[in-house]
Amino acid sequence: MPFSSLLGHEAATAVLRQALANDRLATGYLFVGPPHVGKTTLALALAQEANCERLTVGGTGVSPVSADAGDTGETPVPLKAGACGECSSCRRIAAGSHPDVRVLRPSLQVKVKTSDTDAEEIEEAATLAADMEDALIRTEAIGELLASASLAGVEARRRVYIIENAEAMNPPAANRLLKTLEEPPADTTFVLTTARPGLLLPTILSRCQMLSLHPLGPDEIAQRLAEFYPLAPAEQRQVVAGLSAGAWGRARRLMEEPAIIALRTELLDLVLSLPRAEVWESLRLAERLADLTERWWLADEPGELGARMLKQARDRVLRSKLREVAEVIESAFRDMMVATAEGSRLINADRTEQLRAAARAYPPAAAVEACRQLDLLRTDLRQNANLRLALEALFIRLLNLRR
Ligand SMILES: [Zn+2]
Repeated sequence: MPFSSLLGHEAATAVLRQALANDRLATGYLFVGPPHVGKTTLALALAQEANCERLTVGGTGVSPVSADAGDTGETPVPLKAGACGECSSCRRIAAGSHPDVRVLRPSLQVKVKTSDTDAEEIEEAATLAADMEDALIRTEAIGELLASASLAGVEARRRVYIIENAEAMNPPAANRLLKTLEEPPADTTFVLTTARPGLLLPTILSRCQMLSLHPLGPDEIAQRLAEFYPLAPAEQRQVVAGLSAGAWGRARRLMEEPAIIALRTELLDLVLSLPRAEVWESLRLAERLADLTERWWLADEPGELGARMLKQARDRVLRSKLREVAEVIESAFRDMMVATAEGSRLINADRTEQLRAAARAYPPAAAVEACRQLDLLRTDLRQNANLRLALEALFIRLLNLRR
């Protein structure tokens, strides 16, 4: 979608609009912001603005093509309209099929046993793995991208290469990119995206212009959900607003993937059962959480590849998904902290009564400690602690925190 259809990110688009108008796009940009906040969407919008066939060089509608518009029968683009979103260039960029606008994502290598020879083989499973801790952008992938950047005879006015979660580049890959940023090919812009800029090489950071993208506030998300999904039940919109953490991309995904809403209900049921659970049930609770996390992954990654990755790399998949699931559990304990306060607003507002009841077992100090335990779990999972033991230990601690 072109700039005109984007939601939020006004400050970043203003900077980019200005650069486009002056025909002075940088060689390297770094879009920084939390997952699903819209970094890649903005980068693709930038590619459309720079290459829309209805705009001349100097984009964003400052100097629209109008001379031969009469001949083609197309309506001239009004001043300041920006990319049209409809021409062949805009459409192919949106569809991911433009040869000069490419997105590179981290990928994960999983071991596969081939049935006939029984030999182990490495298979690359891209895209789904992008958010996984041990996913990498490998030297070969960067090398291939840079090789195409050095080729002449491009179709686009400006090639735009997007490197998602750029912190996942291994050091040789980062160094190869650095060399290109230092001696950039003509008419090429690299957009790196990351949630954790501190993990990038300082030399890469210094070669990129950084733009920060911020999550929307809960009211803003709720208002936009009401505009985009007027027929959806108000309660569903409210739940999604709470779950999305201000990321519009995440919110839309949740609206269109109701299976995740059902899993979130199930997860909250599990948390809300803790006040009455026995400590000896910890193992059973851990198993339920692992099972739920597995289904969460499958709902989020429908399709054959998602199922295959779960089968072949279950432990890694669960570790990565658990971080998201733990956030939902944490949101419930955060709600308990404030549930009894006058006029407080809960993240899981649809479960207010039950959360108030649960807050009797978890008074604020206990709920704070529960959040700390969930944070520790995330660290443990990153440090390769045994998954099953880590989850069981979590529930033992959560149950022992009750009043
Ligand atoms: Zn266009």
